[in-house]
Amino acid sequence: MSDRLIALLAEIEAEFPTFRIAKKRTSRLQRAIDVALKIVTLGGQRVYMTRYHTVLFGTLWVPDSWDIMSDDDKYVLLRHERVHLRQRRRMGDVAMTFVYLVPFFPVLLAYGRARIEWEAYVETIRATAEVYGLARAEDLRAQIIGRFTGPDYGWMWPFPETVRRWFDEALADVRAELASS
Ligand SMILES: [Zn+2]
Repeated sequence: MSDRLIALLAEIEAEFPTFRIAKKRTSRLQRAIDVALKIVTLGGQRVYMTRYHTVLFGTLWVPDSWDIMSDDDKYVLLRHERVHLRQRRRMGDVAMTFVYLVPFFPVLLAYGRARIEWEAYVETIRATAEVYGLARAEDLRAQIIGRFTGPDYGWMWPFPETVRRWFDEALADVRAELASS
């Protein structure tokens, strides 16, 4: 493992002693969520087991692609997931799980999830800029807009212009942070 990844894992374990990383395929609940997501998104979300990382009850559930990710990509991902761990501590399991797993029908509930997810994506943008540079962070724009407005998260916030504005504001903040550090 890279030094950067080892250091981040140590920080996360110090802050969240029960944190662990587990494979989605080994969990009956995760497999059930996969089936439920396929149903409620009418097949739009097909990559839950193969590509999506999910924090639930303090465990990071990783998909099949975890084994082939680079250490730097794992580092960026864990920076995102640490935000969700902190949100869970702030909100509690019941509120967090409700906002997280029941977002798919009413738009008002999905807005709660979109804000939770956005807070973590700001960290993704920041960590990507730190590890790979600002140009790579800027390249995330289309992908992140697609996630918020498409089937991956159940059309969580299907307003590309709003997400684009959030992205540009976050990128401007990160650019300013890097320039001043
Ligand atoms: Zn997230």
